[in-house]
Amino acid sequence: MIKWRPDTCDCVFGYDMENDHPVLKKIFNMCSAHNSLSFGDLLAKILQENRLKNEFFGTIQDTIADFKLEDYKWSFDNTRKLNVDVTGIQGGNKNIIKTLGNLDKFKDKVNFNG
Ligand SMILES: [Zn+2]
Repeated sequence: MIKWRPDTCDCVFGYDMENDHPVLKKIFNMCSAHNSLSFGDLLAKILQENRLKNEFFGTIQDTIADFKLEDYKWSFDNTRKLNVDVTGIQGGNKNIIKTLGNLDKFKDKVNFNG
């Protein structure tokens, strides 16, 4: 069993890989954002949030080559929407990032604050 505490919340749980898919085995801690989820829904929700955070960063980096991880300030609000601020980025690139946040895969899931 692999024990994981995602960086996107305070849940701690154990999972196994079965047929290339993570399968939740044990919950050590449920955070306040996720404690209403069922055992069956928890892992999918956490993976979805983690991927969203990583995918938005990756999409920015694909577009703005010198975009650095330390410039990417993110958090999840109480509706579990991803809030993103960037540092060390000039205005033109901020507009590009804002446009990326409106892509279908990020729309209504990402708030880009600038
Ligand atoms: Zn959680």
